[in-house]
Amino acid sequence: MTRRSLCLFVLFTILFAAEPTSAQPAGKPKRKFKYIDIHTHVGTFYKGRELTVDGLIKFMDENGIEKACILPLVSPEACLYPQTTEAAIAAAKKHPDRLIPFCAIDPRANSGNPKRFGRIDGPGLVDLLKQYKEAGVCGFGEHQVGLPFDHPLMMEIYRACEKVELPILFHLDDIRGIDSPGLPRLEHALKEFPKLAFIGHACGFWASISADATDADFSKYPKIPTPVVPGGALERLLKKYPNLYCDLSEPGGYLAIARDKKFGREFVIRWADRLLFGTDVLMSNQQIPQFDLYDSLDLPEEVQYKIFRGNAIRLLKLPDAK
Ligand SMILES: [Zn+2]
Repeated sequence: MTRRSLCLFVLFTILFAAEPTSAQPAGKPKRKFKYIDIHTHVGTFYKGRELTVDGLIKFMDENGIEKACILPLVSPEACLYPQTTEAAIAAAKKHPDRLIPFCAIDPRANSGNPKRFGRIDGPGLVDLLKQYKEAGVCGFGEHQVGLPFDHPLMMEIYRACEKVELPILFHLDDIRGIDSPGLPRLEHALKEFPKLAFIGHACGFWASISADATDADFSKYPKIPTPVVPGGALERLLKKYPNLYCDLSEPGGYLAIARDKKFGREFVIRWADRLLFGTDVLMSNQQIPQFDLYDSLDLPEEVQYKIFRGNAIRLLKLPDAK
């Protein structure tokens, strides 16, 4: 999340009420599956509503989340101060049954060094990712870098992730992981690295669910309702590239389904093998509308299993549990 994303996010949070979420709305049947949350942050401090590791565990307990991925953020366009890989690994060491660490590296790091000592491209980058993997890291991200999506430095990151077999969770909009309607830059990367699982997120990515997505839609969230025009770039890429996955977290992932619930429900069922439940929780007492949305969709049980946990277990190579 960047400052601008945070502003949008907070506005959204206010619009959707600021009450803490409850585990399960009264009177509704108990959820059959516990979630694996593909997208959370800790150590963020926004408006005095810090989300600590213990706060995240409490949020998980209250909302039926068995495990959560902790995503570092290190790029200047993504955060006011870095949320480090080391902090994610430390949090997971404290709660090994509940937390799954990811890692993040900005591909521009140390690129100003004329002698290139320690520059994290090529073999050096692969070695670092291997070390992170040995420390328990299961994925790369949140990859939210202020470069075009297929910039040569970004392609180096994808190449290293593919080699080390770490799925990458990326942010795509008009200023980070930059692309445009039709998603040509994302397609370039998907084609170049067919063995790397790309997990997409944010407003540019999700605006592309609709065939009428414009440049302006890459920097803002849609209102509810906004009908989806079938034939969007996202669905075209999902059909063509089996290595593309979608992160259902944050307002972008929520609104993509909620803006046109009939289309959204059919999309979720159609792409049940490629969708991953997530919240993008980053502050205490944050309202997460995904819980009620997915309770209301009346999805077949096998679809619920896949998107709430099965796909994450497969993609992150987690031991199946509970
Ligand atoms: Zn995030």
